[in-house]
Amino acid sequence: MNYEKITKKVAKQYGVDVEVSADERSVFLRGQCGNWADIVAIGKMYVTEGKHVVNDIQLIGHTEQPERLPKLTDSALDGTSWDVVVIGGGISGCAVARELTRYKLKVLLVEKHSDVARGASGANNGMVHAGIDLKHQCLKLKYGVGGNAIYGDVCKELGVDFRRSGQYVIFDSKLIRFFAKGTVKRATRHGIPGVRILGKDEIAQVEPAVKDFAVGALYAPSTGYVSPYQLTIAYAENAVQNGATVSLNTAVLGMEMADGLVAKVVTNRGTLSAKCVVNCAGVFADKVAAMAGDRYFSIHPRRGTDLMLDPKAEGVPTQTISMGPSLKSVSKFGSGSTKGGGVIRTADGNYLLGPDAVEIPDREDTSTNAQSLANVFAKHSQVCPTLRRSDIIAYFSGVRAPTYEEDFIIERSAKVANLVHVAGIQSPGITAAPLFSKDVAEIVRQYLLSAGEQVVLNDAFDPVRPRPVKARQLDDDARDKLIQSDPDFGKIICRCEEISLGEIKQALHNPLGVHTIDGVKRRVRAGMGRCQGGFCMPLITDIIAKETNGQCTDVAKDDIGSNVAVGKIKEV
Ligand SMILES: Cc1cc2nc3c(=O)[nH]c(=O)nc-3n(C[C@H](O)[C@H](O)[C@H](O)COP(=O)(O)OP(=O)(O)OC[C@H]3O[C@@H](n4cnc5c(N)ncnc54)[C@H](O)[C@@H]3O)c2cc1C
Repeated sequence: MNYEKITKKVAKQYGVDVEVSADERSVFLRGQCGNWADIVAIGKMYVTEGKHVVNDIQLIGHTEQPERLPKLTDSALDGTSWDVVVIGGGISGCAVARELTRYKLKVLLVEKHSDVARGASGANNGMVHAGIDLKHQCLKLKYGVGGNAIYGDVCKELGVDFRRSGQYVIFDSKLIRFFAKGTVKRATRHGIPGVRILGKDEIAQVEPAVKDFAVGALYAPSTGYVSPYQLTIAYAENAVQNGATVSLNTAVLGMEMADGLVAKVVTNRGTLSAKCVVNCAGVFADKVAAMAGDRYFSIHPRRGTDLMLDPKAEGVPTQTISMGPSLKSVSKFGSGSTKGGGVIRTADGNYLLGPDAVEIPDREDTSTNAQSLANVFAKHSQVCPTLRRSDIIAYFSGVRAPTYEEDFIIERSAKVANLVHVAGIQSPGITAAPLFSKDVAEIVRQYLLSAGEQVVLNDAFDPVRPRPVKARQLDDDARDKLIQSDPDFGKIICRCEEISLGEIKQALHNPLGVHTIDGVKRRVRAGMGRCQGGFCMPLITDIIAKETNGQCTDVAKDDIGSNVAVGKIKEV
């Protein structure tokens, strides 16, 4: 590639002088610029087949937010030895850890937060994509389409709800409908089952809420829905059940190298040795790679904001509706700040609107702002005019972790033989993880064998993780029986989501040892309804204190130090 030509173009277009160097794996960019979106756009201009972009162009006047690290230092892991250390407790790390327990290996998963699913895996749309938007041969396509195909089986094994109810991508013009025929052909070529075009009448019948907007729709029946945090938790629990260790509140801070290999992993809980390390650190994957002197790609954080609607909202589409490319609204929404997503019926039966896509300089900036909220609502209410702002009960942001090449990196490092990267896992990472985690386990196995280690099958491996009781899903007879066997299942604590004391206690006895308010929320949805925990949070705090033989003041909302109660205001 002619980097000189691009550099001249960048100077003309953005007024930025880029210093460029390259090696066999990457092109490295240095310079200064006053606008983050421009920095990302410049990085993309240097993308070329076969090389990664490492973009070190500095944002003038910006100091990166300090990384969130656990408020804990001890020696719990000091001097310990592991066959495999997996860094990051998102869906990637938890699925990889679980797949590794199919072998008799000493597996440690470290996660810097107080629970798994605290990064992108806990703040996304939970859509198991069909893969219709994936255009060329890339890992996202391979693992996205392949992951979708095995989703039902994986969720059954792990005791997690999964609904394959399809997705409708709506067009507002006949021209777009014409182009959609190409998408159907491509989807068929990619092995995506059942994709077809629906006419105006057909889509209006399926989903009256969009009748005024839709000229037609692309229907992808294999699209499914899962609770991404419940699946991540289930993977972690099944890994523990099969012998892995999960160490929460544990951040990898550095690595010690010997003979070109990672010899030691330095954490806030001590320094440990590892025969093989798997980097599943999400938005920090390039920083973790740098700890081993192996930074050959860059992550540019891309935030997405979603609005959550009351499950009892009226006039909301009953199906998942996405707005396809639009001729009429391109000038309004083509700014790059809103893309994809849709009005999504989640696995739990509530509704999400979004997400948008905004490039941001800070990796953990999950803040929300009025602009994003307004854009997301405007985009989707254009398709479904019956949506009402008053039905919004919450909103949240998650941060995607794309590389400049916009594809996953799933490979053993070319430079550090015992380091495996699972990086650039942006959407469809939730969809793809069940499949790529199997390949990552195989990469690790092959490396260990090549290093002269023995890797034998774990005969005791049990793929089935017991399904937690969900009382609200039972019919009256079954619920009566449950309550007779344990009256705690008859005491409703979270009224919005109908969650009983029995379910909360069950969640608190989780194999990961998580005893936080948000930990309960992720496991059983207590606090996720209309009142957003206004009524049940004090009750749950009390239950946690009792179950852990502690005081309310000991109970944290999520990470260490996030305690909600500071003392008594009156005695009775
Ligand atoms: C708004 C939004 C919507 C999305 N919607 C969908 C969707 O509908 N369908 C889909 O398939 N995908 C979707 N995605 C993408 C999906 O969420 C991600 O691809 C996936 O969650 C990535 O998982 P991960 O485990 O790789 O990363 P993460 O979930 O971010 O996990 C990385 C973990 O590593 C930990 N970590 C980082 N550094 C360290 C360290 N030094 N030491 C210890 N731990 C560390 C972090 O705390 C974090 O928990 C969406 C993403 C966003 C943001």
